[in-house]
Amino acid sequence: MSSSSSLDLKTFYPKEVEIRKIIETKDVIQLHLKSRTRKQCCPKCGQLSDVYHSTYTRKLQDLPILAKRTEVYLKAYRYYCHTEGCDQKVFCETINDFFGTYKRMTGRLEDFIIALATQTSCEGAARICSKLGITVSGDTIIRMFLKRAETIKSPLTDIVGIDDWAYKKRHTYGTIIVDGRTHQPIDLLDGRDGKALKAWLAANKQVKVITRDRANAYATAIQEVLPHAMQVADRFHLYQNLMEAIQQVMSQELPARIRLEDDADYDPSADKTTVSKSSQERILKKTRKPT
Ligand SMILES: [Zn+2]
Repeated sequence: MSSSSSLDLKTFYPKEVEIRKIIETKDVIQLHLKSRTRKQCCPKCGQLSDVYHSTYTRKLQDLPILAKRTEVYLKAYRYYCHTEGCDQKVFCETINDFFGTYKRMTGRLEDFIIALATQTSCEGAARICSKLGITVSGDTIIRMFLKRAETIKSPLTDIVGIDDWAYKKRHTYGTIIVDGRTHQPIDLLDGRDGKALKAWLAANKQVKVITRDRANAYATAIQEVLPHAMQVADRFHLYQNLMEAIQQVMSQELPARIRLEDDADYDPSADKTTVSKSSQERILKKTRKPT
């Protein structure tokens, strides 16, 4: 195994940029980079251009280095587009996966935040990020998710799962559509009243099986737009139904206090809080009934 006493930061950045200067303070590492691109594709017409217009400095947040906030100051180019008929006369360069137009953080930092939020929550991820030297709010993470959802093309899947999800708990809710085969989210809709779902189903008539929760709004929307689609109660909500039924029966049948029979001071003749055998049988019968 080879060992080295230094780390070459260049290897962590795309070949299209060069590191000009590194400034380190107590909490922040600043990397001053310069673009080395010689040509770029116009985002409008797709034609290559090698005519520089000007330079400008982009400030981007990158993955932290040892929990120190890492800022990239990139001197990037604007290019002319001289293609006839293209109305994009000047455009800013982008370097795929590293930074895109209007981005304020590198692609790898955005990937990390989204992965973290997927496993926790947007607010939880924002709190963890602040400990790691990343500045991002829960609202910004939600916007990142929505932006990503826009770029994911809905595949023509015939099995989907539908459920509500919270933009902000107890305040704003949306509807999430999940591919039933890959278990990947494929769309996020506004609201959970079924209106947006109707429009989505109308545009995805290939859907044949839909798993859903118990919300009437979803059932009605599916019945109206895709009456022949099979509606399936998902496992989570079946368990939820079962647990609610059991709790209801137990609260009706069981006394508030139950004493254990192996209690040394237990006197069955004086006890009015134990459950009788006939009552136990009644409970068992009720819990066996379908809900
Ligand atoms: Zn163009």
